[in-house]
Amino acid sequence: MEAHAKVVIIGGGVVGCSVLFHLAKFGWKDCVLLERNELTSGSSWHAAGQIHTISSDPNISRLQGYTIKLYKEIEEVSGHSVGMHNTGGFYLASNKDWYDYLKRERSKARYMGLDQEFISLEEVARLHPLIDPKRYIAALWDPLDGDIDPSGVTYAYAKAARVHGASFYTHTPVIETNQRADGSWDVVTEKATINAEHIVNAGGLWAREVGLLSGLNLPVQPMEHHYLITETIPEIEAREERLPAGIDYEGNMYFRQEGKGMLLGTYEPVATPWSVGGTPQSFGHELLEPQLEHIAERLELGFRRIPALEKAGIKDIINGPFTFGPDGNPMIGPVPGMRNYWTAVGVMAGFCQAGGVGMCLAEWMIDGEPSIDVWAMDIARFGDYASPHYGTVKSTENYERRFMLTFPNETLPVGRCQRTTSLYDRLSARGAVWGDAFGLENVLWFADGPEDAHEEPTFRRSRAHDYIAREVKAVREKVGIIEIANFAKHRFQGPGARAFLDRVMAGRIPEPGRIMINPMLTPRGRLYGDLTVACLDQDDFLVLGSGSVQDMHRRWFEQHLEGHDVCYNNESSQWHGIAVSGPNSRELLSRITRDDVSTQGLKFRDIRRTFVAGVPAILARLSFSGELGYEIYVAPEYQLKLYESMVEAGEDLGLKLYGARTLMSLRLEKNWGAWMLDFRPDFTPAESGLDSFINWDKEFIGKQAAIEERARGPQKRLVSMTVDTRDIDVSNDEAILKDGECVGFVTSGGYAHTIGCSMALGYVPTGLAKADTSLEVEINGEMYAARVVDKPLYDPRGEKMRG
Ligand SMILES: Cc1cc2nc3c(=O)[nH]c(=O)nc-3n(C[C@H](O)[C@H](O)[C@H](O)COP(=O)(O)OP(=O)(O)OC[C@H]3O[C@@H](n4cnc5c(N)ncnc54)[C@H](O)[C@@H]3O)c2cc1C
Repeated sequence: MEAHAKVVIIGGGVVGCSVLFHLAKFGWKDCVLLERNELTSGSSWHAAGQIHTISSDPNISRLQGYTIKLYKEIEEVSGHSVGMHNTGGFYLASNKDWYDYLKRERSKARYMGLDQEFISLEEVARLHPLIDPKRYIAALWDPLDGDIDPSGVTYAYAKAARVHGASFYTHTPVIETNQRADGSWDVVTEKATINAEHIVNAGGLWAREVGLLSGLNLPVQPMEHHYLITETIPEIEAREERLPAGIDYEGNMYFRQEGKGMLLGTYEPVATPWSVGGTPQSFGHELLEPQLEHIAERLELGFRRIPALEKAGIKDIINGPFTFGPDGNPMIGPVPGMRNYWTAVGVMAGFCQAGGVGMCLAEWMIDGEPSIDVWAMDIARFGDYASPHYGTVKSTENYERRFMLTFPNETLPVGRCQRTTSLYDRLSARGAVWGDAFGLENVLWFADGPEDAHEEPTFRRSRAHDYIAREVKAVREKVGIIEIANFAKHRFQGPGARAFLDRVMAGRIPEPGRIMINPMLTPRGRLYGDLTVACLDQDDFLVLGSGSVQDMHRRWFEQHLEGHDVCYNNESSQWHGIAVSGPNSRELLSRITRDDVSTQGLKFRDIRRTFVAGVPAILARLSFSGELGYEIYVAPEYQLKLYESMVEAGEDLGLKLYGARTLMSLRLEKNWGAWMLDFRPDFTPAESGLDSFINWDKEFIGKQAAIEERARGPQKRLVSMTVDTRDIDVSNDEAILKDGECVGFVTSGGYAHTIGCSMALGYVPTGLAKADTSLEVEINGEMYAARVVDKPLYDPRGEKMRG
């Protein structure tokens, strides 16, 4: 065995083998995969092998398309059959909500280059004569879907990796991973130790145990899962053509042909986490005892929908475990806070996803960034709050919801209140409807009291619409406050702080007491942050950003610290705070601080340390609402005091509490994009318009790529549009069309209450980005007229905010 390797991958399931293949294919030949047993000895060998493209995240769908198309290549390179049956498959809706969902998926497929089409129920019956079409109301067809042989795929990846120059060793369990001072890893096995620059945890069912070898707790959980295989079914035996694959959403089940019978798998309503305390090292090519009573109800439904199944004898029932992450998506990338440690874990649909996971991870390792935005799979979306217990309860929830509909306005109930602020009970008593991000509860909107704090999940406008209208009106006409504990706060201190920020940020770094908006770019000139940089003192900076991505930004900052005399800390949990907005906000503030907060005393984009509500605070004049506004940051122990003082001081000023949905509505009519929606690593500064914040007179990461893009001119641009709708708004990912052709997609939107109009933001070809261009937006399968607006429809000159 080699004494050194560029990368050691731990785990020879489909995911580890795909990572090995991609690394070697992209040029890192010096990579080794270690497998404790035979390849496929975790979940991979007993998978049902069904493949499909649909996923909640468009980029994951895209990568699933990539994975399926890759099978031909690995078969050819390796000479090992993947057992592919490209039958095509349908997604079946049995009620209106699911039909709406499929229409939305169809809309996404338009711009993802996927070839999905609705087919008639007669066509369903023709393609799959065993299905009872009367049980359904619609079917979406994807020609890419089908099935593969799980072992064949895994071996084909491994052998193709070997052809590209990499190596793998079976029966070689990794027993220790010890980091050297230079950041490399000694990967210890009973046979030998390999010193590797990087390690990849692809431990699948043992991801937790492999993580613990390096002191890493991963919030993943293996879940029991059943599928059954029938005896020969005469109707299938009589056919020459293979039956298509299918997913029945309401039944939370999938099916396909297996031999001359059928395979039917289902996600039961009450899931069973397996080996909560840890996966036994002795577990290998084994199955679990079937628990038919767990799936009986779902099977009955399956039999009603495919009646031939009821008559067929059951040949085999498989119950095998596979690993889920808290939101059901993979967890890949460099682990924040660790050096040279990568994960490719929590991949619950390995045969749909491993190709994309392997490709993105290999690009990330070799090039420093993946070629597309992988936020939906980034390990950094879970921080320390995501404990093993959290992993178990959220993974269980996710398993149970595998093919269940989550509406755009729906928040999932399990694992909540993981992190709360001292205002939680106060705000709940005032009718807060809560969402959560990065484990922290944050208010979405306020109902008229706790009894009234509910919302029906829907694709259309919910009852929250009228409440948000009231909050918007209060902010625009009087004054509103919103808790902002959920913003990220990154602190940079020391003599090298300014030089460091000057290098990682593309914009101007402010002087003491001032604030500047700053885009942050990757070396390839793509957006990696849209941050607010505040200079508290010559050598002391506070950088404000989105709380959800705080660990992603922390990882980025830490990766670039070397050579700079700067002390960096993620202080997001050390600063809570409240923002106050609206024409009466100055008056309110002046009642609770001795500072001069007049136009001259505290100018737009000023920041200072002071006292507000009698407690130490950082006071900034900033606004994401487009109104006169301030952000006040205090240590968590002062949050309650600050809140109560503000409520008391605002009573006669028309004060209203507001939530995140209101903030997102207010910014729409100002044409302001939001991070991770309109601004994300898929886009560039020129495309998004954030190039106006770039300081071209200095050196910064991504400058060369940004200059080249500027010279070329962007191919597409972010635009704001009004959308002509009555009772529905875009959420995101809807197709934008021109003359019937898909030209772009929506990145965010909603209802802009002050101007009284539905709005959307999205990327369209540069030629269509001009004001008044007529476009169409597809929402739930209906086309709505849209019109590009190039100036904010509310206070276009920003006078209110600066006033
Ligand atoms: C019943 C069932 C049906 C399924 N059906 C489908 C389907 O139809 N379509 C689909 O896409 N997915 C399906 N899946 C999911 C799929 O099987 C998994 O997503 C996939 O196998 C995960 O692969 P992996 O490589 O991450 O993990 P694993 O397959 O678990 O591989 C991890 C590997 O790491 C090795 N390892 C662990 N610890 C060490 C160590 N210390 N040293 C060295 N090696 C180590 C293990 O031996 C193992 O081989 C199904 C799963 C089940 C259980």
